[in-house]
Amino acid sequence: MEYIGVTSPILFESHSHTTLCKHAYGEPSEYAAMAEKRGLRGLMVTCHNPMPDGFSAAVRMAEDQFDEYVDLVAKTRDQWQGRVDVRLGLEADYFEGYETFLEKQLASADFHFVLGSVHPQIPEFRQKYWSDDLHEVQKTYFRLLAKSAETGLFDSIAHPDLIKNFTSEAWDSERMLDDIRPALDRIAATGVAMELNTSGVNKTISEMNPFPAMLAEMRLRDIPITLGADAHVAERVADGYETAMQLLQRCGYSHVSFFLGRERQEIEISQALNSLIPVTTPV
Ligand SMILES: [Zn+2]
Ligand SMILES: [Zn+2]
Repeated sequence: MEYIGVTSPILFESHSHTTLCKHAYGEPSEYAAMAEKRGLRGLMVTCHNPMPDGFSAAVRMAEDQFDEYVDLVAKTRDQWQGRVDVRLGLEADYFEGYETFLEKQLASADFHFVLGSVHPQIPEFRQKYWSDDLHEVQKTYFRLLAKSAETGLFDSIAHPDLIKNFTSEAWDSERMLDDIRPALDRIAATGVAMELNTSGVNKTISEMNPFPAMLAEMRLRDIPITLGADAHVAERVADGYETAMQLLQRCGYSHVSFFLGRERQEIEISQALNSLIPVTTPV
C-alpha cells in the first residue's frame, strides 16, 4: 500500500477482541486490515480469557475453545507477516479466589501481553460486592484494581475507572479521587502499567477510561500507559488514538507503551502521533 503516514508504523493496538467472546464481530484479519489502514505496526489480540465453573460464561470463550483461540491468532499472524505484527494477548478477569487458576492459564501459552480487568457488570461481581451504597461499591472497585496489580499476573490494568458507567448516578470523580489516589500509590509500587481505553466515549459516561484527572494522578506516579480501543468490531481498531494521545500529552505524558514477550516497550507520543494515518470517512 502507499504509505502516507509521516514516519513508519511504530504503534500497536493493545486491546482487541474476537468472535469467540460472543459479543465481538468480524475475523481477526479484518482487524489487522484496519490496523494497517491506520498506520499501526501491530495488533495485539486480547480476547476475554476462559474461566472455570461457568464464571461469566456469556461473554467469553469456553475453556475447550482456548486452543482454537491460540490457533486463530497464529493463523492471522502468518497471514499478515511483513505487514501487521499480530500477537497473542489476553484480557484476563481479575476476581478474588481465581489467582491460582490464572497463574496456570497464563503459563499455558506464549502470551505477549496480558490485560487485567475488573468487570463490575458481571453477575459474579454484583453478587459478591454490590450493595445499595454505590459509593461503597465504587471504593471496593478501586481497592480491587490495586489488588489485581499486586498479584503480579498482569502487564496492564484495563479501563481502570469502568465502575463509573455502572454506578453513574452516584459518580463524583472529585470525591472519588480520595480513594483513587491510595489505589494508584499501590499500583505504582508494582510497576504495572495502566490502560487508556478509548471505548469509554461510547459508554454511559462519555469519556475515555480513565477520566483526565485520574490520568494526571497516574502521571504524577510515573505509571506507564498502554493504549487500547477495546475493539469489538474491526472499524474501531485505533479509534480515537489521536485524541487519546493528545489527552496524555496534556496530562504530562511524553511516552506510551505496548508489550512484546510481556516486556514493556516505550515510544514517544509525538512520533506515534506522526505515524498514524488519519481515518478517511467514505463520501
Ligand atoms: Zn474489559
Ligand atoms: Zn475488552
